Amino acid sequence: MVRSISGIAALARMGFIAVIVAGISLPSLAWAQDPKPSAFPQGKLADPAGTPRDYRSQWFFLHTDLSGKEAKDLLDRLEKMLALVSRYWGKPPQKMIETYVIKDMKAWPAGSLDERGASMVAAGGGLTVSLGIPLGPNGPDDPSKPRKFGNVTAVCYCGADHGTPQHEAVHAYCAQTFGTTGPVWYSEGMAEMGQYFRDGDNRDVQIHPGVAEYLLTEGRKNIKSLRGIVNNREQTGDSWQNYAWRWALCHLLANNPNYANRFRPLGLDILTTQNRTFEQTYGDQADHISFEYKFFIAHMCNGFRCDLAAFDWSKKFLALQGSVARNVTVLAERGWQPTQATVASDKNYELATSGSWTLSKGGDAIGPAGTSDGKGRLVGMIMKEFEMGEPFDLGAGGDFTPPENGNLWVRCRDEWAELGDNKGKVTLTIRLKK
Ligand SMILES: [Zn+2]
Repeated sequence: MVRSISGIAALARMGFIAVIVAGISLPSLAWAQDPKPSAFPQGKLADPAGTPRDYRSQWFFLHTDLSGKEAKDLLDRLEKMLALVSRYWGKPPQKMIETYVIKDMKAWPAGSLDERGASMVAAGGGLTVSLGIPLGPNGPDDPSKPRKFGNVTAVCYCGADHGTPQHEAVHAYCAQTFGTTGPVWYSEGMAEMGQYFRDGDNRDVQIHPGVAEYLLTEGRKNIKSLRGIVNNREQTGDSWQNYAWRWALCHLLANNPNYANRFRPLGLDILTTQNRTFEQTYGDQADHISFEYKFFIAHMCNGFRCDLAAFDWSKKFLALQGSVARNVTVLAERGWQPTQATVASDKNYELATSGSWTLSKGGDAIGPAGTSDGKGRLVGMIMKEFEMGEPFDLGAGGDFTPPENGNLWVRCRDEWAELGDNKGKVTLTIRLKK
């Protein structure tokens, strides 16, 4: 029998460190296969909050003391997230997800809630309990074959804050669809992505501001290593800080085009055959991934777009020599972009630019000189062996002496949180000065 507790989302209450309840006693298997009839009345849209009622949508069976309107909004959001999640993993949900969403514990009659679920919710977290028999083609838990887990049932217990029901629903979907939620870094990282799911565009970072602040400040002094995140010794429900690092890694891998196309197959493998590891998948990209992970943490803020900030590692750099010129198209919405020019601090270069960009929807066109306060200015940065130098102004053109030797990268100066609405491009030509 699979007995797993996968999930405590306690980020809504900063500082709470969740502890897994030991000595679990689970309901019988018969209950798992045949959900118990509900003790609560059927809810309607007009119902006020304060009494536990049942609400159903296509894939969710919700018991909650939220109002009918709040319950409907929650179900709408959960269905949208589940549609995205099941598209991402390429498997439709196998069965309804039963979820308790508890706004006020006092509204629930004694004995109506699973004790472990209730205590997690009281502590500001959530809990998904899954049970069932894992069936391989040759019987239970056949280790030689991809596993099939159609008979696992998961039940979620959550507080009524915005994200926890979404976090737990990701666990429940994985448990019921794949029979496992994967190793802790993946299970909780992906569930945290679910926690922050919003209707609409999910490419930009939108997380608890305290979590963003923690990653930013901790990243400066003691960044958690990738190995430290993906190791198998960590446990679910350990600390909100560990959840923050897991989210950061999963968000980066899912959204940065340099890594996203390997991340989805890795995840599917993690949830099914379990043949591949993070190290095997990304071993040949270790330097790049480590650099971009540090860059992401160093610029952590709501609005940051990993897809736009991605570094294009496919472009090769060469020293500029003789009268050879390098032409580069610089896009306003992208982060640092390669010029393919290796420059030297003891040489002078000539720069010419053309074109313009806008930094907001319907905003004025700005040339590469930028505005008087430097917004929209063309800026450069020298990179050497994955070490970035300080950014410096390039502007509209003219003579330029690099501050150090290395590869020249350029971008349009704008807040990292605000690249998404930028439009336009500037063409840059650079050559050695005669
Ligand atoms: Zn979780």
